[in-house]
Amino acid sequence: MAHDPIADATLELLTRRDPDVATWIAKEAERQATTIELIASENHVSPAVMHAMGTCLTNKYAEGYPGARYYGGCVYHDHIESIARDRAKRLFNCAFANVQPHSGAQANAAVFMALMDPGDTFASLVLSDGGHLSHGMKINLSGKWFKPVHYPLHYDPSHPDFERIDYDAVERVCNEHRPKVLMCGYSAYPRVIDFARMRKAADACGALLVADIAHIAGLVAAGVHPSPFPHAHVVTTTTHKTLRGPRGGLILTDAEDLAKKIDKAVFPGMQGGPLMHVIAAKAVAFGEALQPSFKSYCTQVVANARALAAALIDLGYRITSGGTDNHLMLVDLRPRSDKLTGADAERWLELAGMICNKNGIPQDPRPPKFTSGIRLGSPATTTRGFKEPQMRQVAAWIDQVLAAGVESIGSPTGAATLESTAARVRQEVRSLCQQFPIPG
Ligand SMILES: *Cc1c(COP(=O)(O)O)cnc(C)c1O
Repeated sequence: MAHDPIADATLELLTRRDPDVATWIAKEAERQATTIELIASENHVSPAVMHAMGTCLTNKYAEGYPGARYYGGCVYHDHIESIARDRAKRLFNCAFANVQPHSGAQANAAVFMALMDPGDTFASLVLSDGGHLSHGMKINLSGKWFKPVHYPLHYDPSHPDFERIDYDAVERVCNEHRPKVLMCGYSAYPRVIDFARMRKAADACGALLVADIAHIAGLVAAGVHPSPFPHAHVVTTTTHKTLRGPRGGLILTDAEDLAKKIDKAVFPGMQGGPLMHVIAAKAVAFGEALQPSFKSYCTQVVANARALAAALIDLGYRITSGGTDNHLMLVDLRPRSDKLTGADAERWLELAGMICNKNGIPQDPRPPKFTSGIRLGSPATTTRGFKEPQMRQVAAWIDQVLAAGVESIGSPTGAATLESTAARVRQEVRSLCQQFPIPG
């Protein structure tokens, strides 16, 4: 599947040594190659990033930081981690970087540990409005050991900022609860974040501003979304979403005192040995993101998201907040049919080779298991070379499949229509994917 001799050799070796596992990896490679990935938090990494992960670096314990390790033999690891840190700092234009968090949620937990004591209050957007589970969900460490208070969106449809952050309310919530930390940055928010406005609210109550740019990191690095610096005291992110690196986390700051606390919180506070093979892959990905071509990629990501949103609006769907400024959108399915749930849509679209996730829309009357919406993103399709015409084609396919799905509800002949429509679109998706192979 891969057009990449090293990947082919890897799979060949695995097939000989461990066919049980290799079979499924090969099937997954085939699935990725032949389906359209619309999950907003996913992407396809370059062969260079992929190969950095599959190296001997995984064998090494490198607890500590460059120049201050707890094990011998770390001399080359120091170089690798230093390159990753330096590139991260250049990419986001800041003074300190910790490249060790194993994931975005780990990065947030470490920052909470660095900036707060258990029982302290912090302010964030609730998950059901587009926030993240690591921003105070009850069953997550952030909600169990700390006290979240939530600020709202504008929920009044007649308000010009409907479904956007209510910045005045952010200030009110901060003044009322005096949180230690104000979190901004989201998982399902399609609009530009006004970091300066957030900093003003944080300053008014003496909170530290933490910007979690997990979703938009690539756009920020490319200058396609405003930077959280110099407004945020601390920035956390994943490296595997729009930034197109390996699965992992990253913490950034300009303040030396905070940097020291954060380093201690990541190790030994939260984690043991760093994943040096992943840190090498982060360094490679940051290097790629520093290239001019990454800016054109991110510009196209936004153009593609806009094209998909506009086409869906033309087809009768509602996009929350009326559109998108970034790489993702939330599609409210109800105007198309009040019988259509996000869960059904996700399942039917997968039959046709288009992968997305059901997602609650703000004030969703349906529970999270069903939802009234789906979340769609353009990072992965843009990586394989889709431009506006392909995104419009995707919108048309989505509508054809969902229309057939709606028809199938409670109708004996409808099921067959859905099946044949999904099969026909699946074929068309397959052939488009062949024209736009995953880089590799
Ligand atoms: C994806 C995401 C994370 C967590 O990332 P993981 O690597 O899955 O732990 C954190 N914050 C936000 C806003 C996210 O969207």
